[in-house]
Amino acid sequence: MKLLVPDAIVPGVKDIDLADLRQRGIAGLLVDIDNTLVPWGNPQMDQALARWIEQAKAEGFKVCLVSNALPERAQSFADLLGIPAVGRAMKPLSRAFRRGLVQLQLPPGQVAVVGDQLFTDVFGAKRLGLYAILVNPLSTVELGFTKIMRKLERKMLRRLARRGLVDAAAIRSRLGRD
Ligand SMILES: [Mg+2]
Repeated sequence: MKLLVPDAIVPGVKDIDLADLRQRGIAGLLVDIDNTLVPWGNPQMDQALARWIEQAKAEGFKVCLVSNALPERAQSFADLLGIPAVGRAMKPLSRAFRRGLVQLQLPPGQVAVVGDQLFTDVFGAKRLGLYAILVNPLSTVELGFTKIMRKLERKMLRRLARRGLVDAAAIRSRLGRD
């Protein structure tokens, strides 16, 4: 169950504290695409989120996209941002994040994963010893399978909150939809 506990929970990517990450020795970010940077299936990225990636890069962070989306979709956003991408990553498999680590050329202890899903992004990250940052999903439009996973995810988050493993206030906004 510890592998499902995010190290940080923030409303969105823009709320991530880069200075805090640097203090923790984090030098690289593996960032999810769908519902983290872009509403699910959307062809365009919010300019503010693109700017956040630019800012992270300007502050010296290495950034790579790691997405279960098709490689072409992942690559189109990566090209836009001037960073590498791992598409069809098959998160939460460790392989997905290992491929990202190869792109960043950093050890696991210096890398944070940013994503909106507990069972793919957080679980996969924690299993490899990466710092896991959970963000609220940008949209509620998702594949049928993901919808089922969201229900389980909310159940699990409530359980983690009851045990005091996650901050109940931080997850409030993503609960209560079932
Ligand atoms: Mg996602």
